[in-house]
Amino acid sequence: MTPEQLLNEADRCVKCGLCLPECPTYQVLSNEADSPRGRISLMQALAKGELDLSSQIETHLDRCLGCRACESACPSGVKYSSLLDASRTVITYRRNGKPFFHWLLNQLSNPKRLGYLNKTYHTLQRTVLLTIIAKLPSAKLKRLLVLAKQLVGTAPTEAGLYPADLPKGRLVQLFTGCVATQVEQPLIQTSLTLLRSLGYAVEIPATQVCCGAMHRHNGFEAAAENYCMVNRAQTDKSLAQTLITLASACHLELLEHQASSVPVVSLVEFLLKLPANEFPPLKPFTGRVALHTPCSASNDHSFELLHKIPQAEIIELPDNKTCCGAAGSYMLTQPTLSIALGRAKIEQLKACRVDVLATSNTGCAIQFRQLVEETGLPIQVMHPVELINQQREIK
Ligand code: SF4
Ligand code: SF4
Repeated sequence: MTPEQLLNEADRCVKCGLCLPECPTYQVLSNEADSPRGRISLMQALAKGELDLSSQIETHLDRCLGCRACESACPSGVKYSSLLDASRTVITYRRNGKPFFHWLLNQLSNPKRLGYLNKTYHTLQRTVLLTIIAKLPSAKLKRLLVLAKQLVGTAPTEAGLYPADLPKGRLVQLFTGCVATQVEQPLIQTSLTLLRSLGYAVEIPATQVCCGAMHRHNGFEAAAENYCMVNRAQTDKSLAQTLITLASACHLELLEHQASSVPVVSLVEFLLKLPANEFPPLKPFTGRVALHTPCSASNDHSFELLHKIPQAEIIELPDNKTCCGAAGSYMLTQPTLSIALGRAKIEQLKACRVDVLATSNTGCAIQFRQLVEETGLPIQVMHPVELINQQREIK
């Protein structure tokens, strides 16, 4: 988006304020500059050169979750997320490329480098160093260490071609993501097992890369575009008919930025579209399940899928349209706000008295797992597909 396009889009905002009550950061901070309308005014003033870039302005824009709740509420159809991405790109440029942050995102989005960090973390766990770091007065470091506990100690699923259990000449490509390769190993394995049992061969290309969402939403658009190009090339040269996603944030990014030459379908949707005679028979589940809808999954079909489990009581987590505070790298860069929003969700979850919290996004799952553990709630956080696979009748 050029500065002119940014200003044209921002001019569509009539400053009616209908988006304010929907904005999680405005709900918490009650500050106009931390509302969608206030942020659009700041973005306009920056683009026009009426305001110099100060750390205060940057803070107000950094505090935005990018959850898009304001977009759904806006009667003028302002594309707020495009304005935010474009403004953050301009800010990154003016801040000389934010080299440290760029480096950090490159580590987080690269499964290989994340793997090294994962190994280092597990080695450090056996020393006193982590205890010393945890005592440093940095909320960001503290959050990083708490969340790092979710790094699994096992090797990630290897790239390759996994044959179907009963070959039917069907091939899909699985998008495994970046952070998910280190924290959602059980989900990736479950998805592979499930798809193969349904007669699909599964391809995980060795050169598949991160979807680019973290880079795009933090002002590194060129890097995000590059990721899209690399991922599109994987589907161009593959014989797979579908690209299957597991995390809703990656799904949205791949879909909105044409990072695939074959249809991008979430595994939830894929299972729902199976012919009735191919859907796996499921055992009854006598527990209660709360379904969380990630901001990136406004068109989520998980409710429909979970309803296929006999006897399962599925409810929607109250206030599902408000962000849980994960928002990708936000849970590391804005720990205080992220935790405040997450704890509000935990209060709602407590009142639901459920056995399982189902969510279809990796970031949200990380946020919920940490806060559920902190609160000591006996609730399992699962991807809807994991619950389906758990209830599968294996002959
Ligand atoms: S973004 Fe939309 S809802 Fe919010 S103030 Fe502007 S026009 Fe109104
Ligand atoms: S994207 Fe979310 S946090 Fe950001 S202004 Fe809109 S509603 Fe508020």
